[in-house]
Amino acid sequence: MHEATMSDSILRMASEVARREKIRNVKRVDVIIGELHHVVAGVLRTHYEIGKADFPALSRSKLRIRTRKARIACRHCRKKSALTAVSFLCPSCGSAQIEVIGGMELHLASIEGETDTEKTRKGEKPQARR
Ligand SMILES: [Zn+2]
Repeated sequence: MHEATMSDSILRMASEVARREKIRNVKRVDVIIGELHHVVAGVLRTHYEIGKADFPALSRSKLRIRTRKARIACRHCRKKSALTAVSFLCPSCGSAQIEVIGGMELHLASIEGETDTEKTRKGEKPQARR
């Protein structure tokens, strides 16, 4: 369920970028997802494979998933660390005054594909040259 919603956002974002960048045949969509989203990569990929059929520019694309570790910053001693346990305490000084600073990411890192040069050419207006 969660993965379905995420797959949908990724497809929409990638499709929008492809439209803006005039990429008609996207080969790869590269996403970065923080581990606090608790996404199951295989499930996300399955949703992507099904969903991409609705987006012509993405129909032959592959999804590449990269995860980011959960990280915290301590407001007390200011140290930054990886969030390893369920306990939300600073491993350095034991303070509970912490702030989650990583692991919630969801962004499109890049998309790769071919540009529709013909369409681009059609859109250009002939210019008078001296
Ligand atoms: Zn601390």
